[in-house]
Amino acid sequence: MEKITHIERLVIAAYRLPFKITKTKKGYRAVQNSGGLVSAILALSENLQKTKNEFINSKIVWAGIGDNLPEVTFTNKIENEHFDIIPVEIPQRTNELFYGGFCNDLLWPLFHYFPTYCVFDDAYYEAYQDANARFCDELIKIIKPGDFIWIHDYQLLLLPEMLRQRAPDVTIGFFLHIPFPSFELFRLLPREWRKAIINGMLGADLLGFHINDYAQHFIKCVKRTTSFECRQNIIYTHHKLVKAEAFPIGIDFEKFNSACLSKKTVTVKLKVKKILSGQKLIFSVDRLDYSKGLLSRLAGYEVFLEKYPQWHGKVMFNFVVVPSRDHIKKYKEMKKEIESMVGRINGKYSSLSWRPIVYQYKSLSFNELVALYDLSDVGLITPLRDGMNLVAKEYVACQVTNEGVLILSEMAGAADELSEAILINPFDHNEMAEVIAKALTMNPTEKHERLEKMKHRIMQYNVFTWAFDFFNQTFDIKKQQHTMATTFIEDVITKQIVSDYKKAQHRTLFLDYDGTLVPFAKLPELATIHQNTLKVIRQLSIDQKNQIIIISGRDKEFLDQQFANTNVTLVAEHGYFIKVAGKEWESTIKSDMAWKETIRPILTEFVDRCNGTFIEEKTGSLAWHYRNANSENAKVRLHELRDRLAELIRHKTDFEILEGHKVLEIKSGRYDKGEAAKSLLKPNHSDFIFAAGDDRTDEFLFKILPENTYTIRIGSSPSLAKYNITSIPLLLKLLKELAASV
Ligand code: UDP
Repeated sequence: MEKITHIERLVIAAYRLPFKITKTKKGYRAVQNSGGLVSAILALSENLQKTKNEFINSKIVWAGIGDNLPEVTFTNKIENEHFDIIPVEIPQRTNELFYGGFCNDLLWPLFHYFPTYCVFDDAYYEAYQDANARFCDELIKIIKPGDFIWIHDYQLLLLPEMLRQRAPDVTIGFFLHIPFPSFELFRLLPREWRKAIINGMLGADLLGFHINDYAQHFIKCVKRTTSFECRQNIIYTHHKLVKAEAFPIGIDFEKFNSACLSKKTVTVKLKVKKILSGQKLIFSVDRLDYSKGLLSRLAGYEVFLEKYPQWHGKVMFNFVVVPSRDHIKKYKEMKKEIESMVGRINGKYSSLSWRPIVYQYKSLSFNELVALYDLSDVGLITPLRDGMNLVAKEYVACQVTNEGVLILSEMAGAADELSEAILINPFDHNEMAEVIAKALTMNPTEKHERLEKMKHRIMQYNVFTWAFDFFNQTFDIKKQQHTMATTFIEDVITKQIVSDYKKAQHRTLFLDYDGTLVPFAKLPELATIHQNTLKVIRQLSIDQKNQIIIISGRDKEFLDQQFANTNVTLVAEHGYFIKVAGKEWESTIKSDMAWKETIRPILTEFVDRCNGTFIEEKTGSLAWHYRNANSENAKVRLHELRDRLAELIRHKTDFEILEGHKVLEIKSGRYDKGEAAKSLLKPNHSDFIFAAGDDRTDEFLFKILPENTYTIRIGSSPSLAKYNITSIPLLLKLLKELAASV
């Protein structure tokens, strides 16, 4: 992946420090914890050290709390080979409410689609805010210009915005390691918490999710929770652009793949082979968690044993559960249930010489893990819901000496990339039983072909490409933010505009109507032009050197009325009709308007469902105005309408949605203000071009105008326009100055 820029220093903030610090005779020893994130970052860090990569200049900083961090580490900085460690101190009680409570009793089950496990508690939320603020306090102490802050996971959803408030220019990336749920789940959170989480995340420049579905869920939640515009994957907050994108986390493919042939692994494999003595091996390894579908997997295996007695004595299921959170009641109970189920199944099917399940409740060493991945004939990975699932990818990477079959739950994020696995619904025990039998008898060629495709993919997009892709895309969005930056017009610029205007011989001024020359009114027909404004426009239009173009979404009759006896060019309906000054209305656009018949009944339905809204019909468009409706109600309906229309647009391409101020307009997709402006600008003719507009439809105009144009957007939204001006009166004042300057 191409290097596009350079990071002075990478600062990671994640709940858990990647170490358990233990006291030894020599001092403090840091032992790696287990878990997806830690594996990924450590692999990245090791690779950076190995290659002396210059992408990141100095040691990676890691801020987090440690499970058994001795008191001393809060005052003494811990040095480590890979990281500078910034311990964050959270009082024990707060941590219980924050981590045990809000994170693991609410966000974890909610984001994994287990709403009935959710506990809603105000004290949890307070502790969550407090803990995020403590991370912020520690980071603020060490942040330097040029730092890249990379925040991880659901424990720190409020941190990006907290940091942004105190360090507005810092680069912040955020990555979520668990699923982001659909709005139907997310909306179960109290309104205030929902808003805080969305706004908290939007403090980042780039938001990374494992798969596109999660990014889309997030964008939908933004739409439902805020008034921010979202276009594709970009969210236009009041201050900046934020991108939400999918970055499927990868593994260190090489490390796993090559470890299959290492001495240590070969020794383990020999031992296991002896134990197997010809039996086929099914293998699974997961942390103890209800999201992993452990009981459901056992149930599926039991159906297999029931339906396929011919496999009795010939297959062994090595079911490894890695201890996790087992001091918590729910987990303790689940462990008991698992053990009783394993006992029952083994009791039912075992013989003197055979046990169908070998259950282990323990962590495996790296070589044991790799050996079991490689030796097994079937990898049975069936979480009920999983953000990604690295085990599945590691399994594929380790198919070296004995090629096996991966059975993977379609509820795991990894299923998007590992489509050649046998994908199953983990709730369906019959399906699980059938595919186990199918996997055990799959011919070697098919196994090989499936594996090769998956291997290739995960080798290409490994943990390093994942991280670099994330960095690169953060720099891209930073660049885009710069283009869309809001620069308010100042006196010096006004003076420059007036001076350039005076010097010019051929001037072209594009002026939008609603929200630019005229404030919004309750009904569109009431937003008529003020006599003083018309006077300025007339004054400007009398000047022979000027071409004044009123460029609007309004229909031609309305514009004719407002600008009667005024020597201006009129553009109506975003360019559907154009009337060059002194000539007649013309339209070169020949659009099939059949789509109107599909859209009109939908808009009528929304008028019925949302009091105060109405439809405006123009030649080339239909507009749904919601200015006069109850704003909360309108917001909900607007989202629904957008979704309905977006669905239709996927199938039809002859119309598009335009969003203006409190109006959603559907028009034929073949023209816009930019196209209209192009047709009116003579090449290399004007030596002064000026354009003013206030909404998204004007962005088409700003986009196509030459570089030296003075483009101005009314309001404070991010825009392609060079400048923003706070209000209509200020724009009118500027136009007046121009008119009076010659
Ligand atoms: N793993 C581990 N110790 C073990 C077994 C597995 O550290 O005894 C690692 C495994 O190699 C993988 C990670 O734990 O990298 C589990 O990641 P996954 O995404 O599958 O699940 P998570 O635990 O993050 O939900």
